[in-house]
Amino acid sequence: MTQNKIPILDLKPQYRAIQEEIKAAVNRVLESGQFILGPEVQQFETDAAQHLGVKHAIGVNSGTDALIIGLRAAGITPGDEVITTPFSFFATAESISMVGAKPVFVDIDATSFNLNPAQIRAAITEKTKAILPVHLFGNPAPMAQVLDIAAEHSLKVLEDCAQSFGAVYKGDCIDCEPSCQDDIRDRLTGKFAGAMGDVGAFSFFPTKNLGAYGDGGLITTNDDAIATMARKLRVHGALKRYHNELLGYNSRLDAMQAAILGVKLLHVSQWNQQRRQVAATYNRLLADVPGLVTPAVTAGHVFHQYTVRVLEGKRDAVQSYLAEQGIGAMVYYPIPQDRLPVYDGQFPTYPVSEQVASEVLSLPMWPELEAPVQERVVAVLKDAIAAA
Ligand SMILES: *Cc1c(COP(=O)(O)O)cnc(C)c1O
Repeated sequence: MTQNKIPILDLKPQYRAIQEEIKAAVNRVLESGQFILGPEVQQFETDAAQHLGVKHAIGVNSGTDALIIGLRAAGITPGDEVITTPFSFFATAESISMVGAKPVFVDIDATSFNLNPAQIRAAITEKTKAILPVHLFGNPAPMAQVLDIAAEHSLKVLEDCAQSFGAVYKGDCIDCEPSCQDDIRDRLTGKFAGAMGDVGAFSFFPTKNLGAYGDGGLITTNDDAIATMARKLRVHGALKRYHNELLGYNSRLDAMQAAILGVKLLHVSQWNQQRRQVAATYNRLLADVPGLVTPAVTAGHVFHQYTVRVLEGKRDAVQSYLAEQGIGAMVYYPIPQDRLPVYDGQFPTYPVSEQVASEVLSLPMWPELEAPVQERVVAVLKDAIAAA
């Protein structure tokens, strides 16, 4: 019997479950004749802001634009330095570079894959203006420590929430120092990603855990001035038509995507819960596999990706073996941002990030993934490790 292929991500079960709602929403937009901004976008912005517990949500064209516009709206200008993680999708550092600022990387923590706050203070200079943590794979970054340091040095904090819609901070710290403030931790605990820093930047790229059927992004903030600037920047620097005040962008969330996202917003908490269950099942099935490190399944993690570390230099062989057996497993990310050709030679080495980039492997993950399919993935993965 030939086995079916198992992709890294299957979006079809989700569409099948909500297709009537989606078609009604799309039809409503088609009938309205209003496709750019307008009431559908306003409604989604209101609903998303309420869901996330923020004052303002501003729809934009992509997660990358949310970062770029968010950085500019937060006052980051050419020559500034922004501290971030080397271990992320390139859009993180690219956005910093695109506004003329300089990304300054600090190494990550091998367990959470997030930036290690214990390293931030040493990276701060007179030019540092912001810290940009990424809630990678849906796992909230150690925000109490980040915000503590930011307050101490009057830095802005921008959260890259592209992989973490609905993720919740649960008070996690990394290498906690005595200075780690319990009061900040208490104040932040229970807050959503994107509701803790000065700016949150979300992506609705179709594969994200809240995905549109095309490109889309969102900026969140509790700051009125940042919100106004972001609204200005997304429409050519003008709040009033033909009254352009500064150089902006054409970066709007379109009405069709907003209507689709409005439908999906009603389901995303349930989907995130299902993702956590899928992750817990993987962890149970993979307990005690030698040479493999599984991620912690915490209550606030939304498992945009379920990512293991394959030790002893076996990762590439294991990935190939899985591919031969029809199982999609992907490496996010094989090359840390600082090592990409675009930054060739500009940065020192970040050893943990390098090590992790050579070990990570993301397994098939979507909310409707069924346990028997996971069992097959795990059986083949165990064979792969034994054979490597
Ligand atoms: C996807 C992603 C982005 C960019 O989002 P787009 O909508 O594709 O522009 C930024 N940062 C991270 C961490 C991402 O995963």
